[in-house]
Amino acid sequence: TTASRLGEFDGNGRTADGHLVPLLANVGGAKDAVIAAAAGAQGVGLLRTEFCFLGRDAEPSTQEQVEAYRGVLDAFGGKKVVVRTLDAGADKPLPFLTDATEPNPALGVRGYRTDWTTPGVLERQLAAIATAAAGSTAEVWVMAPMIATVEEAERFASMCAAAGLTTPGVMVEVPSAALRSEHVLAHVEFASLGTNDLTQYTMAADRQLGPLAALNSPWQPAVLQLIGMTVAGAVAEGHGKPVGVCGEAAADPALAVVLVGLGIATLSMTPRALAAVGAVLASVTLAQASALAQLALAAPSAAAAKESVRSRLPILA
Ligand code: PEP
Ligand code: MG
Repeated sequence: TTASRLGEFDGNGRTADGHLVPLLANVGGAKDAVIAAAAGAQGVGLLRTEFCFLGRDAEPSTQEQVEAYRGVLDAFGGKKVVVRTLDAGADKPLPFLTDATEPNPALGVRGYRTDWTTPGVLERQLAAIATAAAGSTAEVWVMAPMIATVEEAERFASMCAAAGLTTPGVMVEVPSAALRSEHVLAHVEFASLGTNDLTQYTMAADRQLGPLAALNSPWQPAVLQLIGMTVAGAVAEGHGKPVGVCGEAAADPALAVVLVGLGIATLSMTPRALAAVGAVLASVTLAQASALAQLALAAPSAAAAKESVRSRLPILA
C-alpha cells in the first residue's frame, strides 16, 4: 500500500523507468521551509510571499522582506527556490495593496495587477528578492501570479532583469495564459500552473464555495486539456522551457501521475504529500502515465476521469 512505502521515499521523484520529476514544496515562510526540507523536498516550487505579510496595513520594509526570504533560502542551500511575488487579493487580502470593497475580488485587482494601482511595491519586492538571493547559495527563480496576457509576461521579465534576477517565470492560472502559453513563454524562462485558480477561472466557480466543490475539481477534463495545451505551447516555443504545477492538484497522487503523463516537468505540493506522490509516481512508467493522461482527457466528467485513473493504479487499490 501507499502507506507501507512511505518510508522508502528518498526525496527524488521518478517514474518506474527512471524519468525524473523533481518533487518540490509549497511554503509560506521559513518555518514551512525547514519542515519541507526535512520531508525530502528537492526545492521550493512555490514560496507564497504574501503569507509572510498577511493582514499588514503597511508595506514591509526591504530589510524585513530580505530576512523573510533569506529564512526560506537558507533551508534550501544549493537547491532551487521559486519565489512568487505578492499574490494579494481575493482569498489573500493585503490591506496595503488590495481594496476590500471590490464587488468581485477574484476578478479584481489581485496578484500582478496590484502593480497598476500601487506602483513601486513590485520593484521593491524584486530588489529585496535579489538581495536575499545574492547572499545565498540557493538557485532563485521568480514568478508573477495572475498573469493574463503576453504583454504582462514581457513586462514582468524586464522588471526582473532590471533587478538582476535572471530566471523570470509566470504562473499560468488564468485560462488566457494557458491558451497563449507559446507566446507567453517566449518572454520568460518557465511557467508554473496554479491549478487552484486555473480551475476556478475555467469552471467559473469560486474556489472557496463548498457547494461548488464538484465543479472546482482539477480532474475536470477542461482543466486537464488546458494543462495539456500549456505544455504543448512550451514545446512549440522551442526552447524546452519547463512547465511545472504548484496547485493542489500536484498533491493528489493519482492526478500527479496524470500531470506527468501530460508532460509536466516538476510538481510542487504541501510537504506532507511528498512521500505519497513519490511512491505512486514510482509505480508507473512514463508511457503508462501518458496513457493514463489520455484516458483522463477522454473522460466525460471529472468523476469519471478520476475513477478510471485510480482504478488502473494498483498501488492505490
Ligand atoms: C494556485 O492558484 O493554484 C496557486 C498555486 O496559487 P494560490 O493557491 O496561492 O492562489
Ligand atoms: Mg493562484
